[in-house]
Amino acid sequence: KATIQHPFIFAGFNALTTAEEKIMSWFVEHQQARVFWDEDEFYVGAEHREAGSFFRLYRKHPVLGKTFQPEPASHFSKPKQLHIYGVPQKAGQPKLLAQQLIDQKLLADGESHVIVLPDESLLMPLLYSLPVGIQSINVTMGYPLMSTPYFSLIDFLFDLHRNKRKDEFYYRNILPVLNHPYLHALAPNIVVELKDFITKNNQVYLDEPFFQAKGEVMAFFFRNVSEEDFISYLLDVVNRVATSSAQGLMDKEFAFYFHRIITRLQTLLNNESMELVMLQKLFRQIARAEKIPFSGEPLKGIQVMGVLETRNLDFDHVHVLSLNEGLWPASPRQGSYLPHSIRKAYGLPTYVHQDAMYAYLFYRLLQRSEHVNLYYNTEPDVLGTGEMSRYLYQIMYEARWPYTKKILYSSVSLRQAKPISIPKDAKVIERLRQYNKKELTPSTLNTYLECRLRFYFKNLIGLREAEEVEEAADARIFGNLFHDVMQFFYADLKPTKGNWEIRQEHFAEVEKKLELLVDRAYRKHFRLPDSKKVNYDGQQWIVNEMVKKMADVVLQHDLAYVPFSIDMLEEEGFNTIFPLTAQFSVLLGGKIDRVDRKENVVRIIDYKTGKDENKFASIESLFNREDKKRNKAAFQALFYAWVYARRKKEEGLQLQPGLINRKEIFKEKFEYGLVMDKHPLKDVTPFLPEFENHLVQLLTELFDPRQPFDQTTDEKKCGYCPYKEICGR
Ligand code: SF4
Repeated sequence: KATIQHPFIFAGFNALTTAEEKIMSWFVEHQQARVFWDEDEFYVGAEHREAGSFFRLYRKHPVLGKTFQPEPASHFSKPKQLHIYGVPQKAGQPKLLAQQLIDQKLLADGESHVIVLPDESLLMPLLYSLPVGIQSINVTMGYPLMSTPYFSLIDFLFDLHRNKRKDEFYYRNILPVLNHPYLHALAPNIVVELKDFITKNNQVYLDEPFFQAKGEVMAFFFRNVSEEDFISYLLDVVNRVATSSAQGLMDKEFAFYFHRIITRLQTLLNNESMELVMLQKLFRQIARAEKIPFSGEPLKGIQVMGVLETRNLDFDHVHVLSLNEGLWPASPRQGSYLPHSIRKAYGLPTYVHQDAMYAYLFYRLLQRSEHVNLYYNTEPDVLGTGEMSRYLYQIMYEARWPYTKKILYSSVSLRQAKPISIPKDAKVIERLRQYNKKELTPSTLNTYLECRLRFYFKNLIGLREAEEVEEAADARIFGNLFHDVMQFFYADLKPTKGNWEIRQEHFAEVEKKLELLVDRAYRKHFRLPDSKKVNYDGQQWIVNEMVKKMADVVLQHDLAYVPFSIDMLEEEGFNTIFPLTAQFSVLLGGKIDRVDRKENVVRIIDYKTGKDENKFASIESLFNREDKKRNKAAFQALFYAWVYARRKKEEGLQLQPGLINRKEIFKEKFEYGLVMDKHPLKDVTPFLPEFENHLVQLLTELFDPRQPFDQTTDEKKCGYCPYKEICGR
């Protein structure tokens, strides 16, 4: 029972539940309880301001209405120092706030400051951004479990095990686990080594024995776990990571909560197993709903709070981050199976109530403050934050406080890309001179003809693109597989001694052979052991079929050409030393796909799986960099014919360079050989002197110290160039 000395007092209430309303009314009626409403004329007096909607309602309440002051307070009429900052991207806001605290010398008197985080995930960026000079910070809010490194680690482990293929882990799921900071902390060297190994060796699937050989940490994380044991595995992981010496206090706190969640899952499952997909969903759902409550010394230091924690607290200095629609006010969440109309009809709270409540929290926080700094994200992004919060507009246009508004941006100016030209200084010349020992291949010369600068980047200084695992069989893999299949086919027919004759009987059961050869090529490309069965997935299967089909057609043409003999097959070091000047010779050559002979006809064959054509206009056109249709494949084929002629020096040969190219081979009337100026090139020998002349000119230019490595003038060539960022093209 209330007495004069001990009255019942209700203070700071706003959106009352039905129970609260009834209890308060009873106490007011029967116990003379007093009620203190924290309201302001600014939002109570204006019907359209949602923040005052509850007070307007309670003022008309038969019992509670009497507890209101006749006129609400009017703190809002007293102007405040209001600064509004628009910052691109959410992580920029804590940085700017920290800067403001330093610039405005606001670090002393920390207790009078509150930093409100409608987006709790900004807590860590904020704590890392706050200046070191701050003596103490008190965090009173829930930190979402989903924003912790433990969540990402466990989620990655779910993915890793969910996407296994027959006990093998998929590299796309392995890499995120290896990249995780906790794994880095546990085994820094082995993590780097493994990532390197996977990309360099194009490893798509890796199994448990592989990881077991990589040390205890890897064996622990990358082990095969059944669905029944998965929860225990996760608990082991949390325990293992939490007890490592690299873990800070905060990490250990996170670990505690995750241990609790996983144990809860274990209890829920009650020794039953559950599909990992479902289990992961359940885990995410539980983790999403959980927050780690931070609590500290509330009367000391700068206060960092969530929105709800600001209830009934007043601060002189208020800093609010993330004032964007969807964060404050929060986006309307249904959270109930009852539709809005039913909730409304039965007087249950709807999102309108939620909006009114959040609006009240905002205005109440500001009403007794003196300095207000409000930050919002100017770049609403995929993470769901919307445009500038409506509260900001209301404050700017309705509160009549003087304010400043600043928008941070990085100035973007269209910079005219400067031309790049690399002069041939002594160092560059030195590098160029390596070509008297290192082969200058036709594809390198093609690069030079395309763009001198590209040649410099790619071939002289070896600027490479970052390596990535190629799992989907792209055009390049298609080419490699096809080359290998053709090589295996003929290499298997090579006699230990004598002539490498190819006869009709060698083509028996070609289809069966091709099946095995494609497997072999695939094994070689993806470095799979012979013991391992090859499994083709989706796109790989299609590419393998294409390889088989193309190889089959090529072999049919070869069958029609028998008997012939193989002279060279995927021969490396097929080169010739060419004296460019009296003092300097160049080593010209490369790897030739195939040279075969039938009587005096020598075919110098280049397999092409791209869009290359077998027609070209003239020898000169092959060297003309201005020619938009310059035939690079024909240049390569003629180049090898020229090398062949220099090496063999045989009289009476009919040299036929040509392409076996995807574009032509499927045509009904496919005819091997190049076509120059609409005439089939039956023998290239008479044209080789002209070819050599142009080649000499090209090489002279390449080694000429006065000719810099400059950019191509045809910007179309830059389209697929890996260096276009450097060139600004
Ligand atoms: S982007 Fe263009 S100019 Fe630059 S290296 Fe590549 S091809 Fe040459």
